Amino acid sequence: MTDLPRCRECVAEYGAAHDRRRREALGKPVRGICPSASAIHVDHCHATGKVRGVLCFNCNSGIGKLGDDPDRTRRAAAYLEGNSWKPILVAPGVYQLPS
Ligand SMILES: [Zn+2]
Repeated sequence: MTDLPRCRECVAEYGAAHDRRRREALGKPVRGICPSASAIHVDHCHATGKVRGVLCFNCNSGIGKLGDDPDRTRRAAAYLEGNSWKPILVAPGVYQLPS
């Protein structure tokens, strides 16, 4: 997660970068995670700074709190679906826990 700037110059630079990402996002298709919520937050890759799309506040903060990590997000979905501790039958009588 990005640390918020503190000095006046850094705050201005941060705001300008945010505005630039928002302008970039206007040309991007909306790729919301939840289709019913209004997508008003510009989501960007913290590694590259590139805009990925526009999301609602909860989805944008949620994927950020999961570290923008697709594997972690998939494990969270599996957990919510009750599959995280479900053993996988790999051979007759041999089970494996999902990684
Ligand atoms: Zn959402």
